[in-house]
Parts: sequence; C-alpha cells; structure tokens
Amino acid sequence: MTQPVPPAFAERHIGPGDAETARMLEVVGQPSLEALVDAAIPAGIHDPEALAIEAAPSEQAVIAELREIASHNTVVTSMIGLGYYGTHTPPVVKRNILENPAWYTAYTPYQPEISQGRLEALLNFQTVVSDLTGLEVANASMLDEGTAAAEAMTLMRRAAKAKDGAVLVLDEMLLPQTVGVIHTRARALGIECVTISLDDVDSADALSFAVDGKPVFGVIVQYPGKDGQVRDFRKVADAAHGLGALVTAAADLLGLTVLAEPASWGADVAVGSSQRFGVPMGFGGPHAGYMAVGQKLSRTMPGRLVGVSIDAEGKPAYRLALQTREQHIRREKATSNICTAQVLLAVMASMYAVWHGPVGLREIAVHAHSHAKALADALRAGGVDVTTTRFFDTITVSVPGKAREIAAKALEAGVNLCIVDDDTLSISTDETTVAEHVAAVCGAFGVDAPSEIPTVEPDFGDLARTSEYLTHPVFHAYRSETSMLRYLRRLADRDYALDRGMIPLGSCTMKLNATTEMEAITWPEFSALHPFAPSEQTQGIRDLAAQLSAWLVEITGYDEVSLQPNAGSQGELAGLMAIRGYHEANGDHERDVCLIPSSAHGTNAASAAMAGLKVVVVKSADDGSIDMDDLRAKIDKHGERLAAIMVTYPSTHGVYEDTITELCDLVHEAGGQVYVDGANMNALVGVARPGHFGGDASHLNLHKTFCIPHGGGGPGVGPVGVRRHLAPHLPNHPLAAEAGPESGVGPISAAPFGSASILPISWAYIRLMGGTGLTAATRMAVLNANYVAARLRDSYPVLYAGEGGLVAHECILDLRELTKISGVTVDDVAKRLVDYGFHAPTMSFPVAGTLMVEPTESEDAGELDRFCDAMIAIRAEIQDVIDGKVEVEKSVLRGAPHTAHCLAGDWDAEYDRMTAAYPAGVDPRAKYWPPVRRIDGAHGDRHLICSCPPPEAFEEE
Ligand SMILES: *Cc1c(COP(=O)(O)O)cnc(C)c1O
Repeated sequence: MTQPVPPAFAERHIGPGDAETARMLEVVGQPSLEALVDAAIPAGIHDPEALAIEAAPSEQAVIAELREIASHNTVVTSMIGLGYYGTHTPPVVKRNILENPAWYTAYTPYQPEISQGRLEALLNFQTVVSDLTGLEVANASMLDEGTAAAEAMTLMRRAAKAKDGAVLVLDEMLLPQTVGVIHTRARALGIECVTISLDDVDSADALSFAVDGKPVFGVIVQYPGKDGQVRDFRKVADAAHGLGALVTAAADLLGLTVLAEPASWGADVAVGSSQRFGVPMGFGGPHAGYMAVGQKLSRTMPGRLVGVSIDAEGKPAYRLALQTREQHIRREKATSNICTAQVLLAVMASMYAVWHGPVGLREIAVHAHSHAKALADALRAGGVDVTTTRFFDTITVSVPGKAREIAAKALEAGVNLCIVDDDTLSISTDETTVAEHVAAVCGAFGVDAPSEIPTVEPDFGDLARTSEYLTHPVFHAYRSETSMLRYLRRLADRDYALDRGMIPLGSCTMKLNATTEMEAITWPEFSALHPFAPSEQTQGIRDLAAQLSAWLVEITGYDEVSLQPNAGSQGELAGLMAIRGYHEANGDHERDVCLIPSSAHGTNAASAAMAGLKVVVVKSADDGSIDMDDLRAKIDKHGERLAAIMVTYPSTHGVYEDTITELCDLVHEAGGQVYVDGANMNALVGVARPGHFGGDASHLNLHKTFCIPHGGGGPGVGPVGVRRHLAPHLPNHPLAAEAGPESGVGPISAAPFGSASILPISWAYIRLMGGTGLTAATRMAVLNANYVAARLRDSYPVLYAGEGGLVAHECILDLRELTKISGVTVDDVAKRLVDYGFHAPTMSFPVAGTLMVEPTESEDAGELDRFCDAMIAIRAEIQDVIDGKVEVEKSVLRGAPHTAHCLAGDWDAEYDRMTAAYPAGVDPRAKYWPPVRRIDGAHGDRHLICSCPPPEAFEEE
C-alpha cells in the first residue's frame, strides 16, 4: 500500500527532508518511519485507524477559510463592561511584541540568564500592579480575573488560618463569571460562600450577623461594583479584620489611576484583569489576570513571581523568585496548580503602561469617565432613572420593562449594552468610546445627545486617588516611538527564543509556531469580540470552536471536548471535577482518592488537591515504568475510596509503556476512572488514542502539541476531553448556555470559551496538516528523539528506553554518575549550553540530576547535530574535570555562561577567552551573548525585591 502524501505545508512544518530522514533512520537502525513507530509503540495501544481530517490545499486556502469564518462574526462597539473593555493596542506593541516571534516563541523564564528581557517586562508588570493596588508584592500574571479571585479565596483561607466551618463572604456586586468560578472551586473544597449586600455592613457584629454568626475567613469585594457604583469598603475591611478575616478587592486597574488604591482602605489582597491595558477582548481571552498582596502574604501567594537577584559578578539580574512554593516542588501542598500563565499578555499590558506612563494612563481613565459622565447627565436630563450615584466608567439605569427594547435600538445604532434584566441596563465606557457612541446610546433611549463631551475630573471625595504611581523611570523614558521601538528590541535581544535556535525542553514540545497559524488572531473579527456579546454576533468563532472540538475528538478518541480551560492545569482540574461529579451522580460519595505515580508532573497532584481529592503516590519501578505491584497494593488498600488515577502517556520518562492497558483495566475494575495527562500527545497524534486505550479523561496542551506559541510562559489552552459518561460533568458557564452542559460543574475559567482568540492557531495547524500530516509529524518527533538518543548514548546514558532500546518523543540523559565523579551538575551543563548557543533541556524533571530532551518534529537534522555536537563537546569538558586536568570550581562549565563584558575585562580564569565564548561549533557570526552571568537564585529569595530596581543599581562602580 502506498502512503498518502502529506500536504505541502507539512513539509515546511516538519524539519528533516527525505535524505536527512533516511540518514537518521540509519543511525537509529530502523528501515522506515512506520517501522520505527511500530517498534516503539506497544501493539495494544497502536491505533491503526487513520485520522479522518482533511488537509487544506495550501496556506492561502486556510487563510481564505479563516476569512470566511471570520465573516460570520460581527464586530459591534461594546459597552457591555463586566470586566472586558475596548482598548487600543499601541501599534508599536502589537507589531513588536504580539506579532514578534522573539517574544511569542520564548519559553517560561526558568533559565533566567537567557530570559532577562521578558523578566524585565514582567517586573514592569508587577510594578504596575503593585503601584496601582498599593500592595507591596504582585505576581507575574494569573490566568484571568475569575480564577485570580478563586486563588485569593484559598490564599485567604491559608493565611487567615480559618477555623472549621469558616465561610467566604462574597459582595453581591462581584462580576457574575467571578462568582461562578469561585463557586466551582469552593464546592470542590467544601468551602461555603455567602453572598450578601455589603452596603449595610458597618461593624464586625453586622458582618457576623449577616452570615448567621459563622466564622468568616475572607471577604471578596468588587471595586467598582458590577453596577458601576464606587463603594467605600473601609468599614467592611475593618469589620472583616475584626473577625480575623482577610479582604480581597477585585479591582479595575484603570480605575485605580483615579480611585484610592485598595491597600489604602484596608484590602489585604487585590485581584483583577489587565485586559484593558492594551490587550484585545478576544471573545474572552487570553489576558493577564493579576494578584497583589501585602509583604506578609508574599510567601503564600500563588503563581510566578519575578524578583531581583545578583549574578556571579554581583550585578543585578532578574529571575523567578520563591520557586519552592510552586506545584513542581510542593505538589499537593503547593499554593496553586498554575503552571502556564499569561506571560505574553502581561508583557503587553506592562508595555501599555510603559508607553502611556502615569499621566497617559490617567488621561485614558479620565476619558472613559468623562464619556460615562456625559452619558449619565444626558440620560438624567432626558428623565431616565440612572441609579448609579458615584461611578468611574459604568452606569446602571432602571427602565422598567424596556431594557431589551432599548438594547435592541442601541444595537441598531452599532452598540452593545449590558442587559442586566428586563428592567435594568448597564453601560460601560472605555478608552475607545467617542461622542458618536454616547449619541447612539442616547438615541436608543430617545433622549438628546450631549452637544460635546467635556473632560471632567472624577469626583470621588475621600475615595479619590492621592498617592503617586509609576514613578519609576521606565514609565517615563519611552514617550517617542523611536525610543519605545528600541526598548522593545533591546529587551528581545537579551532573550533566547525559538527564532534563534532549538529549545529542546522535554515535556514542553517547543515546536514551530507557523506564521500562517498566527495570522488570524489579530483580525478584529476574532480579537474585538466581547465574550458576552449576543450570540448572533459570534457565530463564526463558535463554529470554529465546534470544528476544533470535533477534530480533537477524532484525534483523542474521546466523545466530548471542552475548550474552556485556559491552561493544562485548568484542564486537569476540569477533568478531575468531571470525575468527581460522575462518582457523586452515581452515589459514590466516598470515592476521594487519586493515585498519582511518583514521576508525575507537579500540576497533577496540585490539581487533585484543588479538586478535593486525596493524593496517594504510586511508586516507579527501576525501569521507570509504574510499579504494577505497588499499584495493585494501593488499589486494594483504598478499595471503595478509589476515585481516579492520573497517568501521563507516554510517561514523563519518555517511554511508551506496555503496562498502560493493564493499568487502565485494574483501575476500572476497582471502580476508578483513568485520567491520562495529555501533555505528551505529540507522541500519540495519529498513532494512538487515549480514549480508545483506556482513558476516561485527558487534557491537551494546545500550546504544546497544537502549535500555540509558548509566549514566554503563556498563554495556553488546556482543553479537556472525556468519554461520554463524564460529558454531563464538563465545565459550563452562567452567562453562555452553549458553552457546556446544564448539568456541568460550573465555570473553570472566567470566559465561556476560555482563551478563544487563540483557538484559530490550533485550528489552522490541524487544517494545514490534515490527518496525514499530523501523523507524519508524530513519526518524525519520535525519529528526532531517537536520533538524539542514539547520538548521545555513548556520552550520556539514556535513562529509560522501551522495546528495542527505543524512546518515544523525548529522552532523559542521566548525568548523575558523571556528577558524582566530576562534581559537574546539570546546572553547569545547562548554563554551558548557553555559551554554545542553546536553550537548556528540561532540568531534573522527572528525575533529579537528569536532562530531558524533546527535539520535536520541527527541528531539522542540521540543528539536531549542532545540539548533539555541543553536548558531546561538553562531555569532553566534563572529562577534563574527571581526569583532574581542571578543578570543577575553576572549569569553564562552572564559569558559564560567559558575557561579552566578562571577556573584555581582566581575565584570570584557567581557560582562555576563546574557549569560554567560542567553543567548537559556534559560528562567530551567529553568536548569542547572554546579558548576565550565572544568577544566584537563593540570594534573591533571601532579599525579596519584586518591583523595578532603581537605575543606579545597574551603574558600574
Ligand atoms: C505542561 C504540562 C502540564 C501543565 O500544563 P500547563 O499548560 O503548563 O498548565 C501538565 N502535565 C505535564 C506532563 C506537562 O508537561
């Protein structure tokens, strides 16, 4: 039988050509790609049925199809508000960040020496959030406002040392999607939420009375409220503190330029969205959520925190701080399950603040307020009952029985309003609102439009902002486009992203993010939609989501897919919640144990804990596979309490284990469900389907397998696929019935379709590749990994292999013995790779002291050889240490990475400058120079600084 020919695009996506493939197959010792995959994959899981997905004829055809889909969306001026606002993305930011692979193809900054550009941008973001909220420490982004509020709930519970039965108080003016996400998470953890009006809460007694005397651990307020009203929460905060509870403000960042900062009236935590800082609404996402806390709470805050430390020369350098709080270290005891966050969007928001500065931001806020004020005045003059008395950008009007009719008239004039109920409308203004919009709304109400929109300073009385913000020079230095362009370029030049070379990070699948795939995300038909716009206006994006879901069903073998989770971690949580919902619907309330192999990704255990499950670890056997005897013992021990097992397939050891079928059978026989972590789907697409080999649920990472760029640490999309019996328990959404089943577990993300505006990327990838191309990609991913394993095996033992010595799509290089005899660590090798012009592989996951290499199908043989040659050369450098030619402390490995600056100064190293900077194989014309030397992380954790350091810190003595 002849093989179907992959589409032309597939040949661009896949690195090696025919001749290279033949040469690599020879090295691996396999006659063909098909034979390789047949040999590597256990027959029991190999799924020979071809993917029924047709490829488009060309990249141009895919763009034409996307244009057609986009034409079924209608862009209407949004005055809906509810946490999503019109904003102008500064073109200099759009082109040089959002559309620039130097920013969007970077990885999470775990290797700080090659990530100083995005770390600076994120530090700017943290400074913006910290300044505007008045709270000392802000993190580097949350997934959205709703999940940030839910994370604040658990943070407050931890920090307030909540007594048994303590409740969470919710302001009745919280955004509805925030309430939905909080309820989903609270139910899983058995936390009771009480929603009340806070207007009459003026003392601890009043607050206590409002919750029937129950203990309270936290209060979450919306500032300003969803109705637009600016409320004074001073007494509420005092009341909460009087009861030993903490207070979280869900606050509008733009509003905070003119409103008293939450810290000033007693908030302990602030959360929210930075969407309106230049990030398009995108039908709900992605945008960067934020969280800020006072110094006391900084060590219990979830998410990533960028901090300032020093490098080996004592110069200031940025790196991620306090990483030991995170899920990959603390697992089920972690502060949160967040892994992939919203880095690219946080970078955009930070640059919006850099571009506008404090004066510009305040002008934008005053612009929005002035338009809201003019509208309110005109409506009042026309006899309309405006119920909001003190507002920033949103007003609520009472129009008994007429809300829908007026909204329909406004829509005829091109404006969406927020229909609260039959009698009530809310209207929000923003940076993009102009006089014509105000006139259109007035017309819909049948009142006279204002003849002009005077600029009015908001009058918030004692809630007016009086303190300074964004005083750091970075928010004042780049007012001209020339200087801004150069600032962005300067930062990008400090970073190593896929546009420079391969990023062989095991488990992260850093593959090509093709330009055609990226094209549609900035089209207004996808980027300018409000997530709660009337469904007639969003047919196109919902059709695209449905088509993408159907393809993912075909690829995974599941029956239903929800696209709502906005990262893999959130897909895990959604899948586990579905499993819990299923057990509960069957009356199996006691099933609360989740088995997790010791080799699992840290998010697995953290998600299980968030889903209210008890984590029980299953041991690994010596060959890396799951210890089946231990599995049997754990199943016996927990019996009726077994809820689920979470396994990664192929395992995090990079091997297609043949025990998977038996494992699924054992768990099912015991009444448990099988959750297959789908992060390694790049080894399965087109060759095996988790829904067919025994999985009940899986998340996928569209930012790994399906080409959404990693963005420097986000955005991502983590769809969850399930078999039919779990489908009734998928996520849904309070404001969008079509986003999930009525019987669902509630929203997992704030927006009905999560990070909808980046779905066209994965849609385009699948459509460009078709089933044949996707399968070809998987095969090449397996060949590339086996080629690297074969070339490096003599230098570094490959820790695990399956049948015939083959690995799956990644391989683990074991450095432990070398470290023992030489003192050279995985860290030394990772940093030395920078001198050779590479990003390090994944370090010490899943096995400490090892490096995990995943080349993906997109790297060609030339780049693989360059990497292998570098690794072999480094092995020779290690040999010099073993042979006693150099001490490890004085070796080029320990000195790495080397900056240009360090070469120019005095030189007292025992190796020469040429060895340091231009080791064998480095092309002098293509040299990547790291901007800093090796960074001392522990120093920064001891002296926690999480906002921009003063410029003097960088001065040369
Ligand atoms: C990346 C990854 C996750 C988490 O996914 P995010 O999108 O980063 O939240 C979970 N499991 C494994 C094995 C992974 O590699």
